[in-house]
Formats: sequence, C-alpha cells, structure tokens
Amino acid sequence: MIKQTHTLLKNIYGYENFRPLQEEIIDRTINGKDSFVLMPTGGGKSMCFQIPALVFDGITIVVSPLISLMKDQVQALKANGIKADFFNSSISTQEENKVINSAINGELQLLYLSPEKLISVSNTWLKQLNIKLVAIDEAHCVSMWGHDFRPEYTQLKVFRNSLPLVPFMALTATADKSARKDIEEQLGLTNSKLFISSFDRKNLSIEVRGQVQKKKKLQEIANFIERRKNESGIIYCLSRKNTEEVASYLKQNGHSVAFYHAGMNTEDRESTQTDFINDDTKIIVATIAFGMGIDKSNVRFVIHYNLPKNLEGYYQEIGRAGRDGLPSETILYYNMRDFVLYSQFADNGANTVMQKEKLNRMLQFAEAKSCRRKILLSYFGEHLKEDCGNCDVCENPPKSFEGSILTQKALSGIVRMGEKDGITMLINVLRGSNNADIHTKQYSTLKTYGIGRDISFFDWRDYVIQMANQGLIEIMYSENSALKITSIGWEVLKGEKTVRLTTPLTSDDKKQQQKVVKNASKSNTNTDLFTALKKVRYAISKEEKMPAYIIFNDKTLKLMASELPVTENEFLAISGVGINKMEKYGEEFMNVIRQFKETSKPRKINTIQETFKLYKENLSPVKIAEKRNLSITTIYSHLSQLYSEGKAVKLEKYVRKETIDKVRVAFNKLNRKIELKPIYEHLNEEISYGEIRLSITLILKNE
Ligand code: ADP
Ligand code: ZN
Repeated sequence: MIKQTHTLLKNIYGYENFRPLQEEIIDRTINGKDSFVLMPTGGGKSMCFQIPALVFDGITIVVSPLISLMKDQVQALKANGIKADFFNSSISTQEENKVINSAINGELQLLYLSPEKLISVSNTWLKQLNIKLVAIDEAHCVSMWGHDFRPEYTQLKVFRNSLPLVPFMALTATADKSARKDIEEQLGLTNSKLFISSFDRKNLSIEVRGQVQKKKKLQEIANFIERRKNESGIIYCLSRKNTEEVASYLKQNGHSVAFYHAGMNTEDRESTQTDFINDDTKIIVATIAFGMGIDKSNVRFVIHYNLPKNLEGYYQEIGRAGRDGLPSETILYYNMRDFVLYSQFADNGANTVMQKEKLNRMLQFAEAKSCRRKILLSYFGEHLKEDCGNCDVCENPPKSFEGSILTQKALSGIVRMGEKDGITMLINVLRGSNNADIHTKQYSTLKTYGIGRDISFFDWRDYVIQMANQGLIEIMYSENSALKITSIGWEVLKGEKTVRLTTPLTSDDKKQQQKVVKNASKSNTNTDLFTALKKVRYAISKEEKMPAYIIFNDKTLKLMASELPVTENEFLAISGVGINKMEKYGEEFMNVIRQFKETSKPRKINTIQETFKLYKENLSPVKIAEKRNLSITTIYSHLSQLYSEGKAVKLEKYVRKETIDKVRVAFNKLNRKIELKPIYEHLNEEISYGEIRLSITLILKNE
C-alpha cells in the first residue's frame, strides 16, 4: 500500500515525499477509519483525501462551503489527469445532469458538493453511488462556537450515520480545543483520530511597523511594491474607504492594483477576484471580506494597513501568502488610533470582554520586542524552542539600556500635568514645543517643559508605549486616552525601582533594500528564464481558461529555471511535474529552456560541478539533494553525467546489481532508447527514475 501511495504522489502530482502526517492519515483512511485533520492553510490537507480517492475503487465525496473554490480545485485535479467534478448552485440544470450521469456511471473519482446540495440530493441519486470516502472541508463550519457557522453543516451527521462503514475525514485550519470536540460530536465522528500538524509557516517572514504616519506608510508600501515588480500581493485595510484610497494611490504610482470590499456588487467582486487569481491584476487592496475563497498559491506578500482585530484573523490573513512554500513577506502596520477605534467598536458590540481581550493580545504582539513567531505560535498552543530568525525582531534584536532617568522624566511630566492628557500632549511638553494648547494650559511654565528636547517625537512615543507595556503607566481609553501612573510607576518615580528600555527600531527603507538584495543572492534561479517561463504559463492559462498557478506553481517554475530540464526525464524529475502535466505542457516549457541554454551554456556545468564538489566532500546523494534543495533524481542524473565523463564517482554504490540486470532486460527490450518513462512503466513502476538513470549509465559505460 505504501508503495502505491508513493507512486501516486510521484506520478500524478510529481512530488517526491509526503509531508509530515499525510502518509499516516492516508493509510488510516484507506483502512476505513475516520480522521480529523487540523493543518494550517497551505499545509497540504487536500492530499490527505485525494490520494485515498485515487486508491479506492469508487467515488469520494468532498463537502465544501466555498463554492468559488470548487471550480479551481476541480480544474487543478483535472490538470493532473484525475477524474473530478463539482455540483453546486453555480451550474445549470444541463450541467447538473451531466455530472449526475457521470457520477452514477462510475466515471468520477472525486465529486465536490456544497453542503446544501448534498443535503438536497442525499436521498435521491447520491444513494446510487459507490461512496468510499467522505471528506468534510472547512469542518469548523459545523460549530456554533466558531466564527463561521453554517447551519447546513449540522445536517451532515445524518449523512454520516447513513454510511456507517464509510470513512469520514474532517479537515480545517482553525479550531481551538473546545471547538475540536464540538466538531467531532456534531459530525458524528465516533472513532476518529486527531492529526495536528505544526502551524508554523516558516516561509513567511513577519514584520511589524508601528506608529508610521499615513503619508509615509503609503510611500513605504509603494516602494515595497516597486521592488517586487510582477509579484502578487494583498493589502488589507480596515475600512472600505481606505481600500479605495490606497488602491488609487498605488495606481497613480503605476502599479497593477484593484480594490475589493463587501460594498461592491457581486459581479464586480467576482471579476476582481478572477483577475487576481489569473495574474491579470497583481495587487488587491481589500477589507477582510477578501480571501476566504482564494486558493492562489503565488501570493508573495500580505500587508496589513491597519491593526487586525485579533491574532486568529491576522494569522489566517498572512497565511494566504506563500502557499507554494516559497519565501513570502508579511508586514503589519499599526498605530494607536486603530486600537482605540476597535476598543470603541467592541464597547458597542456583543461579547465585549472577549473581544477586548483578543484585541489586547493583538496589540501586545504588535509591540513585542521578542521573537514574533514564538509569540504567535504560543497563542495557538505551539511552543517553539528557538527564536525563528525570520521576523523583524530576530533580524534586528532591540538593544536595551538603563532607562530609569528617562522614565522618571516622562512620569513626572504626567504628574505635573495632572494625569489628564494623552501621549501627544505629554511628548510635546517634554520636547518643549510651542503650540497653542500648551500655552492655553500654561504647561510651558512646568518644570518638565522641554526636559526631553534631545529625543525625537517618535522615539519618545516608543518609550512611553514601552512604559505602558511594562505596567508603569495606564492608558485610560475611556477618558480620551489620558495617561495615569500605576503603583509600579510611582515606585520608579520615587527611585525605588529601576527600568530598562529598548532602543526603538527604525522601519527605514534601507533595511528593506538590504533584505531584497539578500533574498536575491540566496536563490540561484535565472530570473530572465523564470520570467520567460511565467509568460508561457500565462499564455497557456489564457488558452485553457484556468488560473496560471494550476498549470505549474511558482515553486515548480523556479526549479525549472534553476535545473534547466530539456528531456522528458529531467522534466519529470522537477518537483510538481506529474506524468499528465509533462505530457500536456512539457514540450512548450522545455522549448523555452532549450532556447535559453543555447544562449548561456556555462550554467548547467556549474550545477553539476556544485554536486561534484559536495560529493567529493563525502556527502551522500540524499544529503546533497537536501542541501541543494533538488530532487534525488536530479542528483543521480548529475552523478551519472560525471561518471560518463570519467570523473571519480562510485556510481555502483547506489544501485544494486539485481536492479541493473532488470533495467538491462527492459532497456534492451525497448530498443535501447534512453528514455526513463517507458522503462519505468515496463518494470511495473517498481524501480525509481533515479535508479533507472544510474543503471543505464553503468550499462552503457561498462559494455
Ligand atoms: P490546504 O488545503 O491545507 O490549504 P493544499 O492541499 O492546497 O493545502 O496544499 C498546498 C500546496 O502544497 C499545494 O500546492 C499542494 O500541491 C502542495 N503539496 C501538498 N502536499 C505536498 C507534498 N507532499 N509535497 C509537495 N507539495 C505538496
Ligand atoms: Zn523571530
């Protein structure tokens, strides 16, 4: 069984290895048992039911509330040669009949249904199907405690009970402990096993920029985008008005941008979304209404223009970046005004206490001076042992200093002003500014007036917020955000307690620039070729009317651009290329690569030399593959080439004699054509491409 699922993974999807838990979940499902799969967005949930669906001799039902996603998912399956279709309110009666017929005739391996359709047909034609597995996606929708409750989901239990012997799989990316139990109960999963994968998305960098004024913020964002020409991204804003403003600013700067919010009509919203998915619009400025129904794998950045309401939402939103696993960036902008505004919303709404608590946690995260990923994951119950190295704090650790005197200056300022004013007034007094308010209130006569001129406004602001975070000051949101001194604050003021502060971080563009340069030098992709391959992909996507990322995702294109495959076998060795896609698109992409190679010969030699260098350092092929982030098949092909050239490579070590003999028989039988696929198939898919490759080299060399 294990062999079979592996073969499917390689042949259909073109992937080398399962991700953690996938294999265990797949085996359990094939053995007829229920599972509950909790993985982050982009974690690879779909594979967990798709592979069993291919193994089973019957149909797999997939229930999902996200109608807009179904079409894309089915297209992606079809592109890999899998027989799939969907059934929801978006299709005509004629199309409905076609789907029903093919399902009844046993022509489908997977059928996607919306919950309401499932309920309405569960007692009619659905009964005639040979159902072997039911997957319930977005399973949290069954829980009334969640944020996304769908009443139709509660009727799924009846469906479950009508198929007692069929394995059910519930899948979701969000469910805390109490919701998990609720979901299992509501769906009637009696003997299910819970699988939770890590929620750490290592490829997402995390950055927070606090207290940036609007004008600067817009400039920074425009510069950021400028340096990432042709990359896709989402910018989340608090209000509809904001989305339109920001979009129009960026458009004026010549970027490919559209806005999206719930106030637009359905048609406009749909076309905006489609253009984004198809890479016709690069950047969407949206309220959080955007994203739920989006599976786009090559979103390279997510920017929050305002503070999100809670960490759950924030994590889900940044999670829309980098689903293909490539490095992607996230930036959160926030200022106190967002926080105050939300606090007021919360005051007027339901669940006030809980909402405020969540908002406070959000702010603490934004203001934290320790590894952000650690804080974020610990909020979701996962504890990282080490700092992540991929967040702004890790990259630029704050330096702390003895700040008691500085703190005393601020605290005594607050006392002398009678604890009635907010942060801005305090800083203006400390810096000795000359505005009218200060004179009306006669603050210029205070002893603290002007004692902090040497520190900039923004640095003062950062310090005062640190004082609030350390519990020395309280910000009274109910009293126009007036600052009050706490009992600990008084201890500092009386000199009974010392304080350490950290130097404010600067969110300057220089840092950004360095980062881009650093990232660029890390990858060994040929950017020109990558761009050319993207163009081919875009043309095919237009011809076939499907999103570009479904043809090949960015990660796969990048591998093509660094590995330069020009034969079927080399092409198949690229992660993300299955047999179906190779046959359909291989030639078109390889032609571009061939042309590229004509004009720049030396590179290929370099990649082989790099493998040789590591080989000479005594690294095993597996280790070399890991280190170079290439497939083992590619490394074997490098070693074969080196061996043929007479280099000191002990190829015999990596393939058994029996295997070589088997390959020799097949090779001779197939007229000694050097093509791996026919041999692979001739040998019942039992010998890997890498081993076949090695065997042929040895056979030819030793004749
Ligand atoms: P989810 O449904 O959990 O959000 P998906 O199932 O859409 O995630 O998977 C995200 C991406 O990861 C897809 O592009 C998918 O093809 C890819 N993927 C899944 N499993 C593997 C694997 N074992 N190896 C490589 N890529 C994988
Ligand atoms: Zn970190």
